[in-house]
Amino acid sequence: MKVLVPVKRVIDYNVKARVKPDGSGVDLANVKMSMNPFGEIAVEEAVRLKEKGTISEIVVVSIGPTQAQETIRTALAMGADRGILIETDQTVEPLSVAKLLKAVVDEEKPDMAILGKQAIDDDANQTGQMLSALLDWPQGTFASELEVGEGKAKITREIDGGLQTLEVELPAVITTDLRLNEPRYASLPNIMKAKRKPIDMKKPEDYGINIEARLEQITVAEPPKREAGVIVETVADLVDKLKNEAGVI
Ligand code: AMP
Repeated sequence: MKVLVPVKRVIDYNVKARVKPDGSGVDLANVKMSMNPFGEIAVEEAVRLKEKGTISEIVVVSIGPTQAQETIRTALAMGADRGILIETDQTVEPLSVAKLLKAVVDEEKPDMAILGKQAIDDDANQTGQMLSALLDWPQGTFASELEVGEGKAKITREIDGGLQTLEVELPAVITTDLRLNEPRYASLPNIMKAKRKPIDMKKPEDYGINIEARLEQITVAEPPKREAGVIVETVADLVDKLKNEAGVI
């Protein structure tokens, strides 16, 4: 069995995002970029399936700038077998990502695509669902447990107020939730080994997909600054402020 794992290069989750002074977007100049954390979970899950002998090949794909090669190398160092970089400096919206991934699936014919449930930069939570619709494959989104059997996969999903268990026929699209696993750190020997693993360099045009933006971003703004708190002298003062200033009681 073969698994396709799409990973996105995003602003590192530890970095405090700064908005550009003209409000046209987030300032990414000299900012640390890393693999989307949900993508790391997807790679980890695929590697665990390979270690169990359930699958035999993991292909990682990223759509992004040349530097997204580093993101692919990280996945290769975690245990993926080979990579595909679809190189572009443009912002690629989820629908275009899904169309490109469909084209890769048509070529690679994997048994599963394991994506992150969302990318932490756009927080769109759309690509997996769109890919499933374009491929007409079943989907198991927000997986917190995954069991792969003969031609089927059982997915435990985190839903409001509980867990839902689904069974889907393969091929299928799975998206990962935070509690699915804890991704490993790549060991130094594996980082060295990953340097020799192949990365196929492609362009969106190679797949005949138009990635022109359909959405217009009007403005990006910082959240309003929190106002400083005040220390009240008595409980009566507190109740008065909650009633008459905050209007919450
Ligand atoms: P989103 O729908 O943008 O929140 O992204 C959900 C998931 O789609 C991510 O966790 C990735 O697995 C995949 N994805 C989104 N954008 C890209 C990209 N540019 N390259 C590779 N995978 C992507």
